[in-house]
Amino acid sequence: MCGIVAYVGQKEAYPIILKGLKRLEYRGYDSAGVALLDEKGLNVYKKQGKVAELEEHLIGKALPAHIGIGHTRWATHGEPSDRNAHPHMSKSGKLAMIHNGIIENYAQLKQDLIKKGYVFKSDTDTEVLLNFIEDIWINNNCELEEAVRIALKRVVGAYVIVLLDADQPDTLIAARKGSPLVIGIGKGEHFLASDASPIIEYTKEVVYVNDYELAILKPDELILKNLGNEKITPFVQKLDMELAAIEKGGFDHFMIKEIFEQSETIYDCLRGRLDAEKGTIKMSGVENNMERFIHAQRIIMVACGTSWHAGLVAEYIFEELCRIPVEVEYASEFRYRNPVIHKGDIIMAISQSGETADTLVAIEKAKEQGAIIFGILNVVGSSIARASHAGAYTHAGPEIGVASTKAFTAQLTVLTMVALRIAIEKKTITHDRYMHLLNELHEVPAKVEATLKLSESIKAVAAKYADAKDMLYLGRGYNFPVALEGALKLKEISYIHAEGYPAAEMKHGPIALVDETLPVVFVATKDSYHEKIVSNMQEIKARKGKVIAVITEGDEVITGLADDVIAIPEADELIAPIISVIPMQLLAYYIGVLKGYDVDKPRNLAKSVTVE
Ligand code: GLU
Repeated sequence: MCGIVAYVGQKEAYPIILKGLKRLEYRGYDSAGVALLDEKGLNVYKKQGKVAELEEHLIGKALPAHIGIGHTRWATHGEPSDRNAHPHMSKSGKLAMIHNGIIENYAQLKQDLIKKGYVFKSDTDTEVLLNFIEDIWINNNCELEEAVRIALKRVVGAYVIVLLDADQPDTLIAARKGSPLVIGIGKGEHFLASDASPIIEYTKEVVYVNDYELAILKPDELILKNLGNEKITPFVQKLDMELAAIEKGGFDHFMIKEIFEQSETIYDCLRGRLDAEKGTIKMSGVENNMERFIHAQRIIMVACGTSWHAGLVAEYIFEELCRIPVEVEYASEFRYRNPVIHKGDIIMAISQSGETADTLVAIEKAKEQGAIIFGILNVVGSSIARASHAGAYTHAGPEIGVASTKAFTAQLTVLTMVALRIAIEKKTITHDRYMHLLNELHEVPAKVEATLKLSESIKAVAAKYADAKDMLYLGRGYNFPVALEGALKLKEISYIHAEGYPAAEMKHGPIALVDETLPVVFVATKDSYHEKIVSNMQEIKARKGKVIAVITEGDEVITGLADDVIAIPEADELIAPIISVIPMQLLAYYIGVLKGYDVDKPRNLAKSVTVE
């Protein structure tokens, strides 16, 4: 996945690149590096670890270059190390390159190059691609951009690459297929980055580069071409992102800032769409496709990770309200299976970043077979947004913490609105129930606010269980996916092994794990399954398991039964997951912090998974 930043212009490149890399660290933090070109030549500096380590390494060094490229890595080929860090240098020492993605046929290309006498200093696919380009460049005696074009036509995989040529001190060459790339247009300067966050304080004019496009950037010139060497007119867009949205604002971590933002982000997501008094939901993406939704034989939710859990909740909601059969698919499985897709099936692609590689390919495949793609995405203008026929944005603002929080609750909010809008049109819901649910949705931000006030007591619960080796998360019905999400959050942030399970299903296996050392988190708010889940809780207590229960305020039955309770405001069962997931997020966060982990950058993870 990795983050890339590049600059060409009048300013000093290094501070701009360094700051940009820090903003992109959510994409990977195995190593960081820069290549800078000044009058004395091309220099590469790189270090294993986070960007701060590179910064430390370069303190006090004169770095006067006005052109440079930088990279923060999430390793795919070769361990995290100085040697495998980007930028890589070509054999001649003339070219430096950064890369985001995977070159799938690198092994074959590497063999061919080794036969020609190339020696590799790293284990990466990136160094192979770079030398492949150089080899073509030298043998064909052509322009570098021509060599890049020829090479890319023979490459299988995904990439954004940016090249710096020691003999061209005013030119950057970049290309994209499958990984994100944004160009920032300044006055006498150009920026390149994986997303707009490194660019936003310098310019709001951006161009999103498309697949199979090549960009040639000089301080005063931007040329965009396709791989056939034809010029393309850049489509310049205005960024509507503010700098404050990507800074920590007084919180210790992005994750906790984002957890606390949720009453606001959910409100933003509802704003201008839901009018609970008038009984209206306005979503143009749904409106424009209403006939399709009404006649859809099936909806397939395609997603990964936390977004997949949002899809599971949506399955319950859509089937209940719209009476449309729903399947929820892991994008990584769906794309490689031979799934049966009928013309008119609606694929809902759920992704925070809109760049998730597996989801992107999965929808392309479904599109070829006649499916309609509806995106539920947070990042405007992202690759999946552009590949979708229609969709609804979640408007949660930039999510930087690697463990997703506010994007999830915004996804649930949007999905619920979409389902309600279709259900009322399709008449699969009574008017009274519709009005009731609209009102319930309208009240979510206030209930989330009230739930966030429980943070101190949740911290105390976290302290009690922070030493657990394993944890079990159980829920039923709409709260079952919340249990899965709770377990995922804990694994991501605290490295405690956790399993999420349907509460009744635990009898078929996980109950064997229960003893006095096993904390079991129940998501057990008042709903139609309440008595059943109380029985499941009894089954755990009978085996001496410790029960932590997220309940509805005033639930005395469970209060008398559980070891610890977290009581949240009452909500309709269909809406409850948006609120009941908040204690899951806080519990994982506080346990992670108590254990001393870097919760914003959990090991081995990255935020936007742009590789397979
Ligand atoms: N495949 C390259 C590597 O392992 C790039 C990975 C990335 O996108 O960070 O170094």
